[in-house]
Amino acid sequence: MVQVLNQEINLSMLTDKQISLFIKREDQIHPFISGNKYRKLKYNVLEAQEKGATTLLTFGGAYSNHIAATAYAGKTAGLKTIGVIRGEELVDQWRQNPTLRMASEQGMEFKFITRIQYRDKTDNTFIEKLKEAVGPCYIIPEGGTNALAVKGCAEILTSSDKDFDVICSSAGTGGTLAGIIEASDPSQRILGFPALKGDFLKKDICKFVTKENWQLITDYHFGGYAKVSESLVNFINNFKDKTGVPLDPVYTGKLLYGIIDLVQRDYFSPGTKILAIHSGGLQGIQGMNLVLKKKNLPLLKV
Ligand SMILES: *Cc1c(COP(=O)(O)O)cnc(C)c1O
Repeated sequence: MVQVLNQEINLSMLTDKQISLFIKREDQIHPFISGNKYRKLKYNVLEAQEKGATTLLTFGGAYSNHIAATAYAGKTAGLKTIGVIRGEELVDQWRQNPTLRMASEQGMEFKFITRIQYRDKTDNTFIEKLKEAVGPCYIIPEGGTNALAVKGCAEILTSSDKDFDVICSSAGTGGTLAGIIEASDPSQRILGFPALKGDFLKKDICKFVTKENWQLITDYHFGGYAKVSESLVNFINNFKDKTGVPLDPVYTGKLLYGIIDLVQRDYFSPGTKILAIHSGGLQGIQGMNLVLKKKNLPLLKV
């Protein structure tokens, strides 16, 4: 089982508030695959192989960490990969996109569909038509979340992590958080920081968990998925300078911004030991910098 370092974060504001903060460096599992996407794919790839599948098919947007991860995981396992990508306009522009270029270099084939078609991605008739078009394949949902993904994410926590009072993780589809909740001790508090706007998440997580020692902190999505502000970029650049830990702008930057803000506001009582999960996402920085440049915003340091 892959295990990573918990890195202690030394910042004077943490010492002042008597809070100890560690970051689990899941980003160090792989230079391109987000740590949590690696965990989510592990048992899905095994299941695909057991079923004799030769192709993995999944869904994602142009900068998706999950698309990048599936391309790498498929290549490593000797499976063909197909990415169904949101945005028909990318058909002749995808080579400008660093995520899709990397995925293609790993052998992934793309099928670009319109944003409207993309809304049907979980619809049975849509999936059946896709299967007819591409042939037999093992289908992984957008974001990679299913029961096998949750099983993989439960391996993020180890027995020595029981020492932490609070465990914080970013949440997109909630699969990662669900795995962490299931692996946690009931005495620990699990806080999920959604990177997206919307109320669907709580219900989705409840499908996978039985414990009740968790809640969502919904104040730090910065306007929604992949939305980034100047203050967030500055925070991420500062955090890297001061701690040496690189954060991604879509998930872990918002997570750490939220944790530090909550510490500042005395949300945690003195003496609290916090573990934040660095789920990865660093491959997305390059693509985000292209977007920031267009908007004349400061860039993320690489
Ligand atoms: C996908 C992703 C998440 C969110 O994971 P979910 O299981 O969808 O909630 C968090 N962090 C990073 C870096 C990701 O790539």
